[in-house]
Amino acid sequence: MIKILPVFSRKLSHVCSLKPYKETKWLMPYGNPTGIYVYNCVADQKVPVILNDPHIATWYSCGPTVYDSAHVGHASCYVKLDIIQRILKSFFNIKLVTAMGVTDIDDKIIKKGQETKTDFRTVAKQYEHEFWLDMASLNVEKPLIISRVSEHINSIEGFVKKIIDSGMAYVTPDGSVYFDTSKFPSYGKLQRMQDSGEPSNDHKRNKMDFAIWKGHKPGEPSWNASWGEGRPGWHIECSAMVSKIFGSQIDFHAGGIDLQFPHHENEEAQSCAYHNTSQWANYWIHVGHLHAKGDSKMSKSLKNTISIPSLLETYSADTFRMACLMSNYRYPMEYNDKVMKTAEETLKKFKFFLKDVLVYVNNNATQSGEYKDKLLDDLQKAEDATLEFLKSDFDTASCIYNVLSLISNTNKIMKMHDKDYYPVPVILIAEYVTSLLAKFGITLKESAQGDISNTLIDTLVDFRHTVRLNALIRKDKELLSACDIVRDKMKSMNVQINDSNKMPSWVSAK
Ligand SMILES: [Zn+2]
Repeated sequence: MIKILPVFSRKLSHVCSLKPYKETKWLMPYGNPTGIYVYNCVADQKVPVILNDPHIATWYSCGPTVYDSAHVGHASCYVKLDIIQRILKSFFNIKLVTAMGVTDIDDKIIKKGQETKTDFRTVAKQYEHEFWLDMASLNVEKPLIISRVSEHINSIEGFVKKIIDSGMAYVTPDGSVYFDTSKFPSYGKLQRMQDSGEPSNDHKRNKMDFAIWKGHKPGEPSWNASWGEGRPGWHIECSAMVSKIFGSQIDFHAGGIDLQFPHHENEEAQSCAYHNTSQWANYWIHVGHLHAKGDSKMSKSLKNTISIPSLLETYSADTFRMACLMSNYRYPMEYNDKVMKTAEETLKKFKFFLKDVLVYVNNNATQSGEYKDKLLDDLQKAEDATLEFLKSDFDTASCIYNVLSLISNTNKIMKMHDKDYYPVPVILIAEYVTSLLAKFGITLKESAQGDISNTLIDTLVDFRHTVRLNALIRKDKELLSACDIVRDKMKSMNVQINDSNKMPSWVSAK
């Protein structure tokens, strides 16, 4: 059961064959509100997330076409989707049934196989294996279900057959099958425009008709279907796999913004045709592009890609995730040293804070046993604000700034610890910061150093601290300069020492 929420369209360009929708409709599902609002491209505004069971949601992400290595652009898309999934699970107590489709039959994979004289299945397996390793190195959780096109050919055939039988698709002389967009009046609702120009080839009845099955070409893999030999079109794969797993409706459907049109538009049209329904995906989540320099999208064709292993040689997975958290998932994100250094510095502020809390709690002689009401108030306000930000289209950037402000206030109180001592609220705040970052998927791991090397660093940092304090008292410039050299050398080895406290502390700078 669904009810209609009319939303009026924006003004659109005056390209002759493009017609803006006079009115587009996003259909509000019946069910239980979760309190979350998410941007939906059909409504062109934030809409309430309503679930049948408020604690269970279905989620499908379009996965990779496995013909080459993934790059930082893919990393930003999947890390941001991982963050949103974690938010739904950890902050809103929603059990997510996650699935991802892997396109392992495709023009590009077949071409790569031909070029390298390798079976296309081997090409796909190799790059899919690499993709999961890359995702694991970025701490992206694996979907519960991985569906590969090669394992779903029968369901895809059945899906195409039903659409042909319903009269909403037609077979062309070359054995291809096209979806007839003129039979689906809502076609164009995701991109919020319709295009009624001339078809681009003789087989098509309407310009926007698209292939759901590609007729056989010599030298290419093919499968027999009742209407002829061939292979699935790209768009049909996701529709057939999602329908097999989740049935006639899905809560969240996600991917990069470049998939909004035509991929998701086509998925929605053919799935609605198959299930004879008006809305198939209730919530579309589209992640903005990663820009390498200026306005250019990071992509293989522009030859401006950076591989995920080379990203992780320079920055940690936590740093990259922090950069993602500090941006808005829907908008383009810059990838440059300034953005990454800002993320690194932010992460360091959190790490220093947590170390300083340990030092503060363990090194004060007299405990007053009192609570600092203001600190507890600050904590409560920060917790409330976090939830409000996340409810509003997963605004993680505001969350991070909000928590930075909380730790800055707490740092001020800790610096005054000669006069007052408030361990309980400070510990609660540290616990909150740790669990918040963990919920976002930040591990706070101290690089690859083992316990022994950490102990050695602790010993060296303690020793330097004692030497430096004595040098300060004696105004020994030579010794102070030696201490600075040790600090700089350790920084070059990714150990950053904090001299601003009375007690020694350090963090891994990577
Ligand atoms: Zn897809």
